[in-house]
Amino acid sequence: MSQIMAVAQLGEAILGIRASEIQIHELESNWLQHLTASMQATMLERNGVGIAAPQVYVSKRVIIVASRPNVRYPDAPEMQPIIMMNPVITTCSEQTILGEEGCLSVPDTRGQVARAEKITVQYLNLQGQPVEIRLEGFPARIVQHEVDHLDGILFTERL
Ligand code: ZN
Repeated sequence: MSQIMAVAQLGEAILGIRASEIQIHELESNWLQHLTASMQATMLERNGVGIAAPQVYVSKRVIIVASRPNVRYPDAPEMQPIIMMNPVITTCSEQTILGEEGCLSVPDTRGQVARAEKITVQYLNLQGQPVEIRLEGFPARIVQHEVDHLDGILFTERL
């Protein structure tokens, strides 16, 4: 059902485009199930802790947030992966924190990026239900990084 997908690299046009919303009729579609399963497989194979659909050449507002310790992020906290359709960050703490980021689309580059420490994010789950959650620390950082991808922004533009 899932397949490893090619990952767009720095300089490719798709990484600079604003992705479009998932439409109601696309929720629960086989296409979307296949896309999210393949994004997850691709993220795991590359030791990512998050991935956005434009990174696999699909210009849609879909992200996966999946913090866990691995060779790229040994200190990452473990969480259940969350698949978010049309995520919107509705509140950000004024408090920002610097933290190291990398990106599957920007090989061999790490940088310190200031991000809001705490956020609230609203999204649709794969069943099309609206969900609102609060996140802080590394998972909040991942959401901000991945939502940036949906708006065509790479972390290297925030250094
Ligand atoms: Zn990235």
